[in-house]
Amino acid sequence: MQYKSTRNSKISITSAQAIKQGLSVEGGLFVPEELPVVTSEEIASFAGMDYRGRAYAILSKFLTDFTKEELENCINSAYTKAKFETDNIAPVYKLNDKEYILELWHGPTCAFKDMALQILPHLLTTSMKKTNEESEVVILVATSGDTGKAALEGFRDVRGTRIVVFYPENGVSEIQKLQMVTQEGDNVGVAAVAGNFDDAQNGVKKIFTDDEYKAQLAENGYKLSSANSINWGRLVPQIVYYFSAYADMLAGNEIKNGDKINIVVPTGNFGNILAAYYAKKMGLPVNKFICASNKNNVLTDFIKTGEYNKNRDFYTTISPSMDILISSNLERLLSDLFDGNDEEISKLMKALNTEGKYQVPEEIRAKISDLFYAGCADDDETMQAIKACQEEYGYVIDTHTAVAKSVYAEYAKSTGDKTKTVIASTASPFKFNQSVLIALNGYEFVTGKDEFTLLDELSDISGLDIPTSLADLKNKMRLFNVVCEKEQMSSVVGEFLDIN
Ligand SMILES: *Cc1c(COP(=O)(O)O)cnc(C)c1O
Repeated sequence: MQYKSTRNSKISITSAQAIKQGLSVEGGLFVPEELPVVTSEEIASFAGMDYRGRAYAILSKFLTDFTKEELENCINSAYTKAKFETDNIAPVYKLNDKEYILELWHGPTCAFKDMALQILPHLLTTSMKKTNEESEVVILVATSGDTGKAALEGFRDVRGTRIVVFYPENGVSEIQKLQMVTQEGDNVGVAAVAGNFDDAQNGVKKIFTDDEYKAQLAENGYKLSSANSINWGRLVPQIVYYFSAYADMLAGNEIKNGDKINIVVPTGNFGNILAAYYAKKMGLPVNKFICASNKNNVLTDFIKTGEYNKNRDFYTTISPSMDILISSNLERLLSDLFDGNDEEISKLMKALNTEGKYQVPEEIRAKISDLFYAGCADDDETMQAIKACQEEYGYVIDTHTAVAKSVYAEYAKSTGDKTKTVIASTASPFKFNQSVLIALNGYEFVTGKDEFTLLDELSDISGLDIPTSLADLKNKMRLFNVVCEKEQMSSVVGEFLDIN
């Protein structure tokens, strides 16, 4: 299977090249030239497989230039019980006869980004080898929280890679900071930037466009790369768990093969929900996608009106991983709905770049609203959803999942749809323990308590064990204490790589 760019369909490259390159030269995203098909019989057969078997079945249809051995090595290195604390990797929890929670947070950093970032480093190093790239990859990440830690865990001690993560000194939660500064591994570096997330992000972008600096790295055998969510190697692993959830429901006799399900996704950059859309196009029986946003509801408006407009206030919410105004992966959906018309996509993305907005034609808007229902929940509604879920089912959800739960409730009420529904749960409640505990017990309950007390309290209330990776933070050494100015970021990278 070959890959083209959303902005230039004449490009035709292998999956290894697409994964190595990340972004196409003209700024487009790589997409497969056609989507492979999964037959109903195949889906039935997934019911008898473990997660790794399902992953092989799906990924081998996309990464056709990888040998069986290469792909199995990638999968077996990523999806292990040691890393996910469960053999199921992405288990489905039945909440009631209609709602099924797809738990995507059993990985080492307790958020769904592990599902892709545990395998990406292996896909990337294999892709480097396959394309005869000799240099070592240096992954640079600017993070506002979840991605940085998930990338550090994914790349730690992966041979042929180095990773350096920058976070805003005062822009991440206490637990997120602890997770990063205690990161172990021989090939990792972590530094705080004196400034906000934009400063960190701009600093990283500057390094990526600094030709002189890149030449200096090349002389030392290094090549820069990024781990962000537009890389095909991050998107394709996400398709797997939607098939896996369906297979688990088949195996548990919750549905019959061919029955349609709804899929609800708490959405930010549109990667997770796009993977669900691809699964449907490949053959997964889906009735409706429900796109849930927080107060940053640019997608809700887009799906309803066909106008994408990022010229609006930006809100900081209790579901921070969805605080986003540009959903990059939407470009891939549009490319598909426009039947790969690269000129149209280039025009829209140019408008987004220059005017901050674009409008899709009525016929495309109609297609979108046929496929997707969209809704949003503010912080109050999010808190209420956490509390209601705990009271009704004794099941504690995190703030991002609660946004999805809230929007689904609104959907079910307004449509009366009784279709069985999978709700993507994107983070462990322990990861956002403070907001979750406020939702359950009020503000007074958390005041004056440190992170570790809060973890204990949440464990008592939820009846769940604290994930080992979070409990262990208490005893971990702080290994990184670098704080740099944004102008110094390239020399910090140089120090980590020993080339200054
Ligand atoms: C990144 C993230 C999201 C948003 O996912 P997208 O693929 O960017 O839409 C939702 N919840 C959590 C916890 C996340 O970390």
